[in-house]
Amino acid sequence: MNRLQLQTKRQALLRQLQNLGPWIEGTLVATTRKCGKEGCACHHNGPKHPVLFLTWKEAGKTISLYIPRQLESAVKEWAQNYKKLKALIRQVSEVQKQIVRLRE
Ligand SMILES: [Zn+2]
Repeated sequence: MNRLQLQTKRQALLRQLQNLGPWIEGTLVATTRKCGKEGCACHHNGPKHPVLFLTWKEAGKTISLYIPRQLESAVKEWAQNYKKLKALIRQVSEVQKQIVRLRE
């Protein structure tokens, strides 16, 4: 690719970056747990309740954040956006390296 093509590609990537919604860093972990109600079936060999956590590492420690049910779909989208963000960062960086290699 020549310089103009690379700049056009970079422009398209930066536009995607601009249109990206908010992101959140971490791994979504789906698990089950008992609720707080003693009378609930989950305390008497019944099925436990599905819950979602976001986990990440801080200073070598794994942090776990409970995701409230009403935020689950939003947080899933934010986590997806974080992956897109990382991919875009890599791609822009790659274009920049190619521009440098042109030595123009
Ligand atoms: Zn329960």
